[in-house]
Amino acid sequence: MSEHPKVLLVEDEPAQREVLSYNLKSEGFDVVTAADGEEAMLLVDEETPDIIVLDWMLPGISGIEICRRIKSKSQTRSIPILMLSARSEEVDRVRGLETGADDYVVKPYSVLELMARVRSQLRRVRPSSVGQRLEYQDIVLDSETHRVTRNDNALKLGPTEFRLLSTFMEKPGRVWSREQLLDRVWGRDIYVDSRTVDVHVGRLRKALCVYGGEDPLRTVRGAGYALG
Ligand code: CA
Repeated sequence: MSEHPKVLLVEDEPAQREVLSYNLKSEGFDVVTAADGEEAMLLVDEETPDIIVLDWMLPGISGIEICRRIKSKSQTRSIPILMLSARSEEVDRVRGLETGADDYVVKPYSVLELMARVRSQLRRVRPSSVGQRLEYQDIVLDSETHRVTRNDNALKLGPTEFRLLSTFMEKPGRVWSREQLLDRVWGRDIYVDSRTVDVHVGRLRKALCVYGGEDPLRTVRGAGYALG
């Protein structure tokens, strides 16, 4: 298996295929795309994907039929299938799951939700493949062991600083407002003054530079903080 989980994306609408493919790639997946059922069936055998994101409404062989075929073959049965569909009625939902789809997302879906569903299916079949280790330049964060190293030196971070760093490392370059960081790191139900964010970012900076190296965090005036 390759280092990155491979997603087979089956979607006939070019614009949707582009957007999804782009998002999956930026989440670190290898992406193979098919525009119809025939192509999808060929690629399932040739590429042995780790997960299939499958549109229901396709020209030629329907998504439902593809799903049925994949789930009836012993070599491909264990590949999780996430169905996409504009149909939202309960009866269709049940039909989708009866054909063996592992999960089901109704269009219009949020890309973030879809990514979360893809990850959760992969976590089930390939636990080591999903986001356990994040890297940014010489910083490595292991979310399973809660270890952080910079240039191979182990760093000591408090739990809040660890969660802050994880958030930054998930999306390097993204500017996070203090509000967004409060939501992500402290949880929206807890009242914390936004200056608390500044205090912990300060601690994180200190911890990251304890063995030298440049401060990788950027303060964006009037906006918040970013990594890189
Ligand atoms: Ca379609």
